[in-house]
Amino acid sequence: MRITAIAGGVGGARFVRGLRHHLDTTPGLADAEVTVVANTGDDITLFGLRVCPDVDTLLYTLGGGVEESQGWGRSDEGHRVQEELAAYGVAPQWFGLGDRDIGTHVARSLWLSQGLTPSEVTARLARRWGLPDRRIRLLPMTDTPVETHVVVDDEDGGERAIHFQEWWVRHQASLPARRFVVAGLDRAAAAPGVLDAIRQADVVLLPPSNPVVSIGIVLGVPGVRDALRGTAAPVVGVSPLISGRPVRGHADACLAAIGVESTAAAVGGLYEDFLDAWLVDPADAGTVLARARVEPFDGPLLMSDVPATGRIAAHALRLATAVAA
Ligand code: GDP
Ligand code: CA
Repeated sequence: MRITAIAGGVGGARFVRGLRHHLDTTPGLADAEVTVVANTGDDITLFGLRVCPDVDTLLYTLGGGVEESQGWGRSDEGHRVQEELAAYGVAPQWFGLGDRDIGTHVARSLWLSQGLTPSEVTARLARRWGLPDRRIRLLPMTDTPVETHVVVDDEDGGERAIHFQEWWVRHQASLPARRFVVAGLDRAAAAPGVLDAIRQADVVLLPPSNPVVSIGIVLGVPGVRDALRGTAAPVVGVSPLISGRPVRGHADACLAAIGVESTAAAVGGLYEDFLDAWLVDPADAGTVLARARVEPFDGPLLMSDVPATGRIAAHALRLATAVAA
């Protein structure tokens, strides 16, 4: 079985880890291949280093090196490099880069400077984390530089665009977002393997990733949405909202910026041109979508630990079988 998932950072990574756990512990499913198409709109260059937050969160979570308490960054992390940078007055200080994490960014930046593509670099990083051995293929959505920017009000009554990370990390999404502008997206080409992974999948899954700034960005890569509309595989999504609220993060602020209600129904509606089934929390059992089957999960839709997440993934796969029949 070939499973393709479209993922952002923490929500996507935790879901795929649970999915892999379910496959590995279920007779007959261990051979299944999982391809993860990762959002790269969050990418940023800091201190001359290329940082890919969603790809890194996927690497660390799926490779067993994540700081579990926060869901991103390296475990057993220190901040001595950042202290030195602060002593030199090197900006910005609002984005925390741990010492071990910096090792990833140095390796990535070095390989990029030697001419490797982001896909090739990601494959190298993934080998270190053992992903191919675990039948996980991690693909950035594109090798074209793409950056999500947020348009906010400036002090003079005008508008200015800031990098998504500045809005999310520095301002905690508290500045009202007027709109998102994704530099480079309309001219981006899907990375090698991305469109085929969608077209040739047996199942496509949308983890409970942010619908606007994670999945929404991947959907904006030319060809991706058409591939999803055209694939023979059932497409099943998992809601990132419970009773209208994101489980973590600021998806509600992102939805407000694009004029979409913060409900499981409205998020499912963003995918309705290709979605076959939508797994929601029991609290959202009343959700109705015109073209997709809506199913409440048989418990809280919370990825509280790996086995619990595995049960959510298993339910999504059963739904895929049901809608394909
Ligand atoms: P990010 O790039 O690190 O922000 O991560 P993603 O975009 O992959 O995922 C963020 C989304 O995951 C948020 O909108 C959360 O509401 C959602 N999320 C996180 N944990 C859970 C969970 O346990 N259950 C559900 N249903 N959604 C979750
Ligand atoms: Ca992200």
